[in-house]
Amino acid sequence: MVGQITMSRINELVRLQETDFAIDKARAAVADAESRQGETEELADARAGLAQLEVALREARSSQKDIDLEAEGLRAKIAPQEEKLYSGTIKNPKELSDFQADVDQMKRHLATVEDRDLEAIAAVEAAQTALDEAKATLKSLEEAWSAEQARLAEQIKVATAELQTIEPVRADQSSGIDPELLAKYDHIRLVHQGRGIAKLDRNLCLGCRISLPVSAVNRARAGNTLVQCPNCERILYT
Ligand SMILES: [Zn+2]
Repeated sequence: MVGQITMSRINELVRLQETDFAIDKARAAVADAESRQGETEELADARAGLAQLEVALREARSSQKDIDLEAEGLRAKIAPQEEKLYSGTIKNPKELSDFQADVDQMKRHLATVEDRDLEAIAAVEAAQTALDEAKATLKSLEEAWSAEQARLAEQIKVATAELQTIEPVRADQSSGIDPELLAKYDHIRLVHQGRGIAKLDRNLCLGCRISLPVSAVNRARAGNTLVQCPNCERILYT
């Protein structure tokens, strides 16, 4: 009868360990989801990148506007000079050719400013394109992030509900187990990666995968006493 009592105590521990595995799994699911909630580095980087591109676009626009104003100013200066040049009011040929040279000089200057203006317009367009692309990238990142956050919240909800179901089962199961044995089991679980008991496969402890001495194997098989693995301390069952 001693053997049967021991066997039933071990069977209780086997069931308890299954419950504990389910609890550990649900708790790990909650912890995993919680650790991944909130702003991601990827999203923060994308937002910072977008802010930089917005600054770059503002600067490109402002610089293009300056060049535009410079060209405007030159045109405003050249127009009356040209008018004067062709008006026939300058009679002296030397004076006329000097004046013509001045106007040509201003027009060459205007041409280089207009070239810079074209480059500046192209730079504004490139900055706008880069900003539009960054906005599209951020939008898709935010959508993926929102979906992930919803998934994590759901994972927490499901695992929490599971814990609310399993934890009372654990309390119920453990209340039927000898306190000393339960304390031993809990202690081994705590120090050995959550496993308090281990199955014996021929002479191998499946908890630590070490071959056990024949005497320990025989005692565990007999089922009259609780036998712990001499290596990992786990309570053995067959
Ligand atoms: Zn072992």
